[in-house]
Amino acid sequence: MAASSARVDLDGNTINPFTICMIGAGGFIGSHLCEKLLTETPHTVLAVDVYNDKIKHLLEGPDSLPWAGRIQFHRLNIKNDSRLEGLIKCSDLTVNLAAICTPADYNTRPLDTIYSNFIDALPVVKYCSENNKRLIHFSTCEVYGKTIGSYLPQDSPLRQDPAYYILKEDTSPCIFGPIEKQRWSYACAKQLIERLIYAEGAENGLEFTIVRPFNWIGPRMDFIPGIDGPSEGVPRVLACFSNNLLRREPLKLVDGGESQRTFVYIKDAIEAVLLMIENPARANGHIFNVGNPNNEVTVRQLAEMMTKVYSKVSGEDSIETPTVDVSSKEFYGEGYDDSDKRIPDMTIINKQLGWDPKTSLWDLLESTLTYQHRTYAEAVKQSVAKAVAS
Ligand code: NAD
Ligand code: UDP
Repeated sequence: MAASSARVDLDGNTINPFTICMIGAGGFIGSHLCEKLLTETPHTVLAVDVYNDKIKHLLEGPDSLPWAGRIQFHRLNIKNDSRLEGLIKCSDLTVNLAAICTPADYNTRPLDTIYSNFIDALPVVKYCSENNKRLIHFSTCEVYGKTIGSYLPQDSPLRQDPAYYILKEDTSPCIFGPIEKQRWSYACAKQLIERLIYAEGAENGLEFTIVRPFNWIGPRMDFIPGIDGPSEGVPRVLACFSNNLLRREPLKLVDGGESQRTFVYIKDAIEAVLLMIENPARANGHIFNVGNPNNEVTVRQLAEMMTKVYSKVSGEDSIETPTVDVSSKEFYGEGYDDSDKRIPDMTIINKQLGWDPKTSLWDLLESTLTYQHRTYAEAVKQSVAKAVAS
C-alpha cells in the first residue's frame, strides 16, 4: 500500500507526519512496526539497534521505494552511547522496545536481564521527560506474574471464576515467586520501570503509554538455533517448536506443557501500536494489554496444533512421537518458574482505541509456519546433512 499523506485520527483530526525514534527497531516487533510505518504512513523512523538483519529489506533498495529517505538506521547500544539523547531530542516520539526478553535468560543471566529491562531504560525515560517528548514503552504481560486462582486449592470452584484469572490493567495485582526463582527478575525489572514511568507522568508531566504484550507471535520471531542463532540458544516457544518441526524432532513440553497462554498475531498487534502512535490524546497516560483472549491454549495444545499445521504447510507427515515431556530444571536450569495462565482483559484498549484482535490461532500459525518452512527448511536440511557427514 502506498504511504498516505492525508491520515486522520480516531477523532477525525488530520495526522501530521512525525519522526519516531524507535529503540530496538531491529528486533521482532520493531521489524514489523517499521514495515507498517513505512508502507502505510508518512512517518519517519530513526531506527536504533545493535542489529539490523530483520530490517535489512527496508534499509536497502532503490531510491524509488515509497519509503526512501524515511528510515535511518543508527547502530548503537543504548547502555553507553551519548548519541541517544540527540536522537530522542530530534524526534516527536520515542518507542522503546529494547530488552532482553527471552525466558531462558531470566534465570541464567539475571543481572543482564535486570540491567537491560530497568537500568538501560532509565536514560530513555529521563531524556523523554527532560525534553518533553512522548514515550511509548514496551513492558510485558509478565508483570502480572501468576494468577490469584493459581493459589487456590486445585478443587476450588473459584478457579473457574474469571475474577480469579483475567488480567486487568487497573485492578489485577502483580504476583511473583520468591527471589530464588530468578525467572521473575524480568517481570520485576519491567514492573519497576513501569512504576518509574508512571511516576514521571504524575510528578513531571511525562506523556507516556505503556504496552503489555501478551505473547505476540509471527514471522521473524527470534531465531532458529544453528541456522541464524547460536546452536545452544533457547528462543521463545514459537521458535523452539518451529526448530523441532524443521528438524523432525519431538517438541519438548516443559513440565508437561500445562501452562496456558493466549497468542496474538503480530500483524493484529501492530495495528494496536499504530493506533497508539497516531492517537496520543487517547493513548497518553494509559497502560494497555495487547493480546487475543480468544486464542487460549495450553502449551501442549499449541504443540499439537503446530504439528498439524506444519504437516499441512510442508506436506510432510508428522513423526511417530510428536512430543516429549521435559522438566523445567532440565530445559531452563535452576530458578525457572512459570506464569500459569494469561488472559488479557480488553476493556481499556477497546474503549480508548476501538482495537480488537482478528486472527485465529490456526490462521496465524498457518501463515507463520508457511514463512518458517519457506525461510528455513532448506538450510536445516543442509545443516543436518553436514552434521551426518562429519
Ligand atoms: P526482540 O529481542 O526481538 O527485540 C528487542 C531488540 O532490542 C533486539 O533487536 C535487540 O538487539 C535490541 N536491543 C536490546 N538491548 C539493546 C541495547 N542495549 N541497545 C540497542 N538495542 C538493544 O524482542 P521483541 O519480541 O521484539 O520484544 C520487544 C519488546 O516487547 C521488549 O521490550 C519485550 O520485553 C516486549 N515484549 C514482547 C513480547 C512478545 O510477545 N514478543 C511479550 C512481552 C513483552
Ligand atoms: N515452552 C515449552 N517448550 C519449549 C519452549 C517453551 O514447553 O520448547 C513453554 C514454557 O515453559 C512456557 C511457554 O512454553 O510455559 C511459553 O514460553 P515462551 O518462551 O514463549 O515465553 P513466556 O510465554 O513464558 O514468556
